[in-house]
Amino acid sequence: MLYLLGTRGTLPVSGQRFVKYGGNTTCLMTPIDEKSCIIFDGGTGIMSLNKYNNFEEYHIFLTHLHWDHIVGVPIFQAFYNHKKKIHIYLENKPTLQSTDILEVLFNPPFFPVPRNKLRAEITMNLIDTGDQFSFPGIDIHAAEGNHPDGVMMYKIIYPDKSVLFTSDYEHGTPVDDFLIEFAYGCDYLIYDTTYHPDEYAGKSGMSRVGWGHSTYQQGIEFVKKANVKNLVMTHHNPDYDDITLDEMGIMARRQFANTFVAYDGMVI
Ligand SMILES: [Zn+2]
Ligand SMILES: [Zn+2]
Repeated sequence: MLYLLGTRGTLPVSGQRFVKYGGNTTCLMTPIDEKSCIIFDGGTGIMSLNKYNNFEEYHIFLTHLHWDHIVGVPIFQAFYNHKKKIHIYLENKPTLQSTDILEVLFNPPFFPVPRNKLRAEITMNLIDTGDQFSFPGIDIHAAEGNHPDGVMMYKIIYPDKSVLFTSDYEHGTPVDDFLIEFAYGCDYLIYDTTYHPDEYAGKSGMSRVGWGHSTYQQGIEFVKKANVKNLVMTHHNPDYDDITLDEMGIMARRQFANTFVAYDGMVI
């Protein structure tokens, strides 16, 4: 089971217009067993895990380090508990200010608790495209996507289904060919549909080409070419309210029936 705890992109949002799909930024979680779990990204969606104290060991795979994907990390309570083990995985890049990203995230004055005050047993794991990881009942394959400053996509393989989570991704480069190959035959593609195709193309203002995100139209092209059974639209634009996302879902399903608009709390 894969829990989508945060499905908003760029910025968290709240209010009456965002009740149906939710406003937390990217975070996914899949349990390995009752004591350990795998988390993808640390957006504000990670907060909902603070109320579950049963897990003792966490594997946190970060897709990239843009704020919306890490802003929840400092308020993740497991970091302050000496009984917890936390393994962090992130892409090995020359632009990293430190190989221990927590030294940056918890560095005053950005956050009042410094890295050396964290109580959990923490390991940092720098990973490269092509790396594979094996947990009981879950395999993870990592591969580079297309996004400013880079992004790691994760294919999550269960005995009964496979899910490709692209996180933030912009189409239109040769990486698209690789994505089709990487996604081929998956049951689910969780894809960055930040922009309505008209907004992406700049029909009502500035073009969003080159901003690092994509559209449901492109997601549909990918699932068709890669023979993926289901498309999950995510990384919702903070400007798009429930009605807008409802409409986008309806338009997408006209072209690909097995399209789902992700919401905070969705389970795959
Ligand atoms: Zn993002
Ligand atoms: Zn990003």
